[in-house]
Order: sequence, then structure tokens, then C-alpha cells
Amino acid sequence: MTGRVVVVGSANVDLVVGVPRHPGAGETVLGGDLRRSPGGKGANQAVAAALAGGAETTFLGAFGPGDGAGFLLSSLAKAGVRTDLVSRVDSATGTAFIMVSPDGENSIVVAPGANSRLSLAGEQLERIAAADVVLAQLEIPLEAVTAAAAARRPGARMVLNAAPSRPLPEIDADVLIVNEHEAADLAGASAAPEELARILQRRAPAVVITLGAAGCVVAEREVAHLPGFRVSPVDTTGAGDTFCGVLAAALAEGRPLREAAERAGAAAALAVTRPGAQSAVPTVAEVAEFAA
Ligand code: ADP
Repeated sequence: MTGRVVVVGSANVDLVVGVPRHPGAGETVLGGDLRRSPGGKGANQAVAAALAGGAETTFLGAFGPGDGAGFLLSSLAKAGVRTDLVSRVDSATGTAFIMVSPDGENSIVVAPGANSRLSLAGEQLERIAAADVVLAQLEIPLEAVTAAAAARRPGARMVLNAAPSRPLPEIDADVLIVNEHEAADLAGASAAPEELARILQRRAPAVVITLGAAGCVVAEREVAHLPGFRVSPVDTTGAGDTFCGVLAAALAEGRPLREAAERAGAAAALAVTRPGAQSAVPTVAEVAEFAA
């Protein structure tokens, strides 16, 4: 193992039910069987970072009482993520209610619960200070994100996946990762991705904008478009999370940003060929074989 990643973020129990159509207000629709799967951007990204193979990965998040926490923690542990420093709070573990209609359209309600109570302290901040890369998203309080950024050691990198879109004050990030919609929201402009990346470099020295099947744009000194890998998509849930986790792990291993984004793109492309979020994340060996 080389390098250490700490992921600070959300963990949700995803409750998924197929519906013939989405119910309107005041309406009840009979759905199919209920499926429970581990999710939440933070936990998904931690799984992706751990399965990328090279870096030791810690997840810092908050969990409530009840069996949802055990379900999520065992999924993280199975992927090799360290969960010894998670917070326990007196709010229900985050839960996402997901309805999927036959055309693949989702409607989702998230009850953030414990995620919105995450507050970093003590040993958690020490673990961050020992990391090479700290990765956070926006499904937790902004105070936790800024505390994580402030706790990193000099030379370590703060990677911020500014998702989901929300008003964002200045955050001391080294690498900003957003999809096209988030990029436009954050830049307050609609423009070509290369142009949006340049605008967003006012917020962070390096910016990555993911473009779905079209790959991504990476902006440091130069702006480069890395084309997507050609695959037949089955389920794009968690593509962005796989991308972020693998990119963070590759940076922690000491790879340059562009190479890290290439690896992340290969892993994310493989993830869209499989159903689910955490269950779709490929291992480093699978990515190597795919990208060869
Ligand atoms: P999000 O899931 O956050 O909206 P994107 O849709 O931009 O993010 O996907 C993130 C990354 O996943 C892309 O940059 C790309 O590398 C990969 N990806 C997503 N969809 C596809 C696809 N259909 N084919 C190949 N790669 C994909």
C-alpha cells in the first residue's frame, strides 16, 4: 500500500423499489420488491478508493442507532475501508428512498439524518492530518468540509467533489471535481466545459469536469479533454463516485492528476456496465485488464 486517503462524507441506506409509474401528489402506487443497498456519496467514494488498491482508505462519517449502520459499515469493511473512527449520533442513519420506473427514470427522496450531524474532532482530525489526500463531497455540513480542509498537513491535497449542487462559500481545495451540471451551477454560467473549467480555477488550482460518456476535462496549467471509454451502459448510478474515489487513491499513490483522471475514467466506465453503486465498483485488477 502506498499513500493514505481519508474520505469525509455521507453514508445512506438506499431503499429501492420499482414502480410502474411515479405517483403524483396524494396518490399511492403499488411497487415491486424492496431492495436495500449501501449508498451515499461518501461511502461509495471510499469503497472506490479502497478497491483502487494502492492507498489505505479511511471513511469518516456519522451513523445512527439501528441496523442500517451495521449494514453500511460491513459493506465498507468488505471493500477494505477503515471505519474505526466513524461518529455515532442520535439521529437515524441516512436513508434514500428511490423509485425507479420502467423507463429507468429515478425519483429520490433523501433523509440525511445522521449525515447532517457529522462534526469532526480529536482522532478524526489526526487521521486527516496523516493523509496524503482528503476527499469530501457536499452531503454533509459545510463546517465538516472546511474542518477537514483545515486539518490536512502541508503538501497533502484536498479534493472536493462539489456535489450535489448547493451554494458554496470559498473552500480551500486543491482539486475540484464536478459534473457538467454542477460546473454550470457553480460557475453561474453556461459555456463549453473547457471554459467552465477555466472559470472554476478561480476556486481551486486544479479542476476536473466529468462529462458522462464523453469522458472528462482536466484543467491545471493546461486544459485537456480525456475521451471516455466506450462501453454499453447498464446503470450509471455511482459513476461519478467511482471516478472521485479512484482519482483520490491514484493521487495518494503519487500519480499526476491527468494520469489519475485516466484511471478514474476507466474504473467509472467499467462501473456503468454493472448494476448498483458500491456493488458496481471494479477492483484494480479488473480496471487494469479493461484499460489494457
Ligand atoms: P455523475 O455520475 O456525477 O453525473 P458523470 O455522468 O459525468 O458523473 O460520470 C462520471 C464519469 O464516469 C465520467 O467522467 C466517465 O469517466 C464515466 N462515465 C459515465 N458514464 C459513462 C458512459 N456512458 N460511458 C463511459 N464512461 C462513463
